[in-house]
Formats: sequence, structure tokens, C-alpha cells
Amino acid sequence: MTTDAPQTGETTVPLPTVILKKRKALPFFSRHPWVFAGAIARVEGDPQPTDEVVLRSHEGQFIARGLYNPESNIRVRLYSWDENQPLDRALWSARLDDAIALRRKLFGKSAAGCRLVFSESDGLSGLTIDRYGDFLLVQWTSRALAARQQVFYELLNEKLSPRGIWQRTEKGVGDAEGLEIADSLATGSEPPRPLFVEENGLQFGVDVVEGQKTGFYFDQRDNRAAVARYLKGASVLDMFCYTGGFSIAAAKLGDARRVRGVDSSESALDMARRNAELNGVSSQVSFEQGDAFRTLETLVAENARFDAVILDPPKMARSRGGLERAARGYFSLNRLALDLLEPNGLLVTCSCSGLLSREDFEQILAKVALDANRSLQVLEVRGQAADHPVSVHCVETSYLKCFICRVV
Ligand code: SAH
Repeated sequence: MTTDAPQTGETTVPLPTVILKKRKALPFFSRHPWVFAGAIARVEGDPQPTDEVVLRSHEGQFIARGLYNPESNIRVRLYSWDENQPLDRALWSARLDDAIALRRKLFGKSAAGCRLVFSESDGLSGLTIDRYGDFLLVQWTSRALAARQQVFYELLNEKLSPRGIWQRTEKGVGDAEGLEIADSLATGSEPPRPLFVEENGLQFGVDVVEGQKTGFYFDQRDNRAAVARYLKGASVLDMFCYTGGFSIAAAKLGDARRVRGVDSSESALDMARRNAELNGVSSQVSFEQGDAFRTLETLVAENARFDAVILDPPKMARSRGGLERAARGYFSLNRLALDLLEPNGLLVTCSCSGLLSREDFEQILAKVALDANRSLQVLEVRGQAADHPVSVHCVETSYLKCFICRVV
């Protein structure tokens, strides 16, 4: 049962209610959208999975309206702080309009390749949409929102007339949310493999069906261009190169002399090689398969030197419990990189672990520099591109750190 009934009239059935424990309400009055099971005192009105519910403080004060999922640790995701605003088609439509308007402002009407909807940051917790030209790639991380997928697909077709909408599910979401959606075509025709997107005037092939996450890391768009500015004539090592985002920008935009890209995924490297060819930089750029840690150790043992090293590892901290281990991982990676840098070399070091703060990351870099007996100057502290906005109500949406540093 989906209770979408407006709650204003006296005759409507009241929505089920989730009542918080004492002193647990502040984050939700502050508009954080995730109500974890541990904050809840009791549930009244027997809501079914995916039903709309009202969130109230222990004292009974209205806080917000959300969607209920008893199988998720995020028991309720909140979408409206207005008592009179039901979670209905009109609300979803308005949220999509706001999200689309931002990307039109950033990229113009064509909005060829970008993140179109970024979950909590766009008021749609549990929905991520990337736009690849005429195709959309949708990822659901909320079972309750996914239960409304037909409404969303209709709205997206009305607003954007995509040729096709492909849906993918992130690893682990089945267990976390009780959500089972197979990777599949939702509407329209299947996306070609690869699709092509333009970024910073470069072309990239993307496999949205088999590629990682949603296929391409748009969040690094501005960082790739920013890094390129420092690389004229440089020899560059691009660790965790995936399909060549930084490598190709370094060669083509930055006029780097030589770029060596390393990644553990052969399929990503195949695409990276095709992308280098597509952009006419195959003679400057080479890609090789390898584990990052082992490759760095080998290069250090060989006394190799580079003018610039780029480190863009996958998320290393997935839970608070994993933070310390992740910190050690970041330390080792960066420590090895420093041994490969020429004096006054450039270290571009990223972390997409939202749980690791900017300050923590900076601390790790300080330790690395001390340990290597080098001085490290931070030239630019960068984050994620503007089509991945940060919600001030949900700090978890600020996840990407990209430090451009000079290592003296
Ligand atoms: N820099 C890329 C994105 C990197 S995503 C870009 O600009 O598009 C992280 C990458 O790390 C993935 O391509 C993944 O295949 C790779 N990876 C994960 N573990 C690895 C390891 N141990 N060694 C090398 N690469 C690894």
C-alpha cells in the first residue's frame, strides 16, 4: 500500500507515524534525510515497506515526511519538511525540475555528459542519474523511492525525451535495502556500447552497461582540467587511471611529454587506450595493468622518477570502523608516490571516502611529508564538480577531495 493521500483535509486517513527517541530530533529538524533505526522509539499505524510516513519528535512535534523501509538501516528517508506537502508525483516532478535547471545553468541545454540528479544533494535521497547525451543511467539506492520508479521514468521521459533509460544497481544495495533491480533497460532503446561524451573539449568512450559505478567519473571533470595546467612538458604517472580521464587531459590539455596510466582493470584500460586514440594522444600516453601498491613499490625499487604523480584510488573507507585501515592505505600510497617525485614535483592526490574529512586527509599528507623528509605545499584544495553539489544538511554529500601539491 502506498499512502499518497494528502493530509490536510479532516476526512483523510492519517499517515503512519515514526516517533523518535528523546533528544534524537535535532539532525532531522536540521534536515538531515536519514533516520537510522537506532533513533526511533516506536512506529504507529503499521506502515508497509515503501509507505509514506510522518516523522515526529518524542514530544509529538511534526518534523518531516519520508518513506519507510523496515529492511534498511536507514529506516526512513526524508523528502519534505512541509507538513502539507505529500510525497507525490508533483513533488518528484518539482525536484527533477530543480535538478535539471542547475545542470542547464552549468552546461547549457545540451548537457551532454553530467550528473543530472545527485541523491540527497538534489532532495532525492536514493536516486542518482547520469546523463550521457540522449541516454540516462539511473541508479537506485532506496527501495522505497525505487518502488516509485514508473513515476520517475514517466517524468524523465516527459522532461528530457531520452532515447533510452538504463538502470543499474550498486553492489551491496540489495543487502542494505532489500532492493532487487537487475541491471536492465527501463525505457526506450539500449545505449550503444560505448557511448561517447565530451569533457573539457575531449572525447571519452563510456560503457554504461559494464563500466564501473555509473560508467564515468564526472565528479573529477574540473580537477582534470585544473591539474592539466601544471603539466606542460612533464612526465606523469596516473595511478588508478580507469578509462584515462586524467591521463588524456594531461597529454592533450596539459601538453605533458609522457603519461603512464596504471589500473587493475583490463576492461577499463582497453577503453583508456581507445580514448587516447580518439583524442590523438596515443604516442604520448601508455596504459598498463597492475596493482597500484605493487606497481609503486616496483617503480620505487627501480629508482623511477616523474614530474607528477596522480593518485585517484577507489573509496577506501566504507564504514567508520574501516577508517583507520583506510588512513593507513592513503598513507602508504602517498608515501610511495613521494619517492617517485622529482624535486618540486607535483602530487595530485584524491580521496573519495566521504567518511575521511578534508582535515584528516591533510593530516595524512603532513605525516607523509614528514616521513619522507620533504616539504609539501598545497597549491589547490579541490572537491567535486558542481553537478555533484554538496547539501549543507547532509555532510556525507561532500566526499571528494583533490589536493594539488608541490613536493619540494
Ligand atoms: N582516475 C579515474 C577514476 C579512478 S576510479 C578517472 O579519472 O576516471 C578508481 C580506479 O581504481 C578504478 O578504475 C579501479 O579499477 C582501480 N583500482 C581499484 N583497485 C586498484 C588497485 N589495487 N590497483 C590499481 N587500480 C585499482
